[in-house]
Amino acid sequence: MKRLQAYKFELMPNGAQVRAMRQYAGACRFVYNKALAWQNEQYQADNTFKFSYTKIANLLPQWKEELDWLKDAPSQPLQQSLKNLEASFRHFFAKRTDFPRFKKKGQSDSFRFPQDFQVEQHNNRVFLPKFGWIRYQCALSHKVKFSNNWKKQKARITQLHSTIANIRKDTLHKTTTTISQNHAMIVIEDLQISNMSKSAKGTATEKGRNVRQKSGLNRSILDQGWFEFRQQLEYKQQWLGGEVLAVPAHYTSQRCSCCGTVSKDNRQSQAKLTCVSCGYETNADLNAAKNILAAGHAVSACLTDVADSSAYISGDALYGYGERVQQGRSVKQEPTEGIAPVMA
Ligand SMILES: [Zn+2]
Repeated sequence: MKRLQAYKFELMPNGAQVRAMRQYAGACRFVYNKALAWQNEQYQADNTFKFSYTKIANLLPQWKEELDWLKDAPSQPLQQSLKNLEASFRHFFAKRTDFPRFKKKGQSDSFRFPQDFQVEQHNNRVFLPKFGWIRYQCALSHKVKFSNNWKKQKARITQLHSTIANIRKDTLHKTTTTISQNHAMIVIEDLQISNMSKSAKGTATEKGRNVRQKSGLNRSILDQGWFEFRQQLEYKQQWLGGEVLAVPAHYTSQRCSCCGTVSKDNRQSQAKLTCVSCGYETNADLNAAKNILAAGHAVSACLTDVADSSAYISGDALYGYGERVQQGRSVKQEPTEGIAPVMA
């Protein structure tokens, strides 16, 4: 079986080679733009005129006659840039992209040799037509461990990772601060790592009127930083005198928040909940958030009204709340209040 495999090498060209590369990339950009302009002119004159690679490629020798400097550029990359234009038009007509645009200097300057190149891996070099052999600068895996170059490359990778981590931290902090400042009580799903990707959360004001959907949150960032997100919420709520309650995630996405019916069939799509029993229709995340909030209120009522707590813990599901309440309450000023009876 034949397998196509792409490899990327970072080349280490010398000064003359760098200048030649810039020149060739410029020539390719020029040919691409000239061909696009020519195509547009033809189309304006006759709006049935279709793009044809052959027609345009046949103009190349003529353009080279007119412009001496074009002759210096290798022919194949010039043809390849016309191929790129052809692909741009094909994608445009297939409604995958916008109409082809003129290329600007400095925006992904490139050119392509479709053949006649060689790779010599044991010598770390690549052969390109017009250039000859050029060295390339290998990745960490190829470097001798603990050598100076290995350390440099390692430092670069570490830097990149810490940049990504900082972006994530920053987003988490902004999000948790906003939520904490606007809500006295926050109810979250007590997510396990295995179902972290579900990430359905509910936030609420103390009175519970405004169940907020987590719109505007960067979901992918939160998915990866779920535990950090929760920790930040907890300590920020502690600072501000609010609280965080974690409730079990069971059935929050399948239960109808209107009539309480639990059914897999309530979720015909990922985005929507349609209750099979009462016909209630709503956004699935919003529905889950309402359920989480309701569960949070049940827990809250449990704790404040100790006399009633036995009723709440009689059911299996609510017994589970009781266990987790301790975690939620541990952030409050009086952590002992009401916990013992619930745990009993
Ligand atoms: Zn219902």
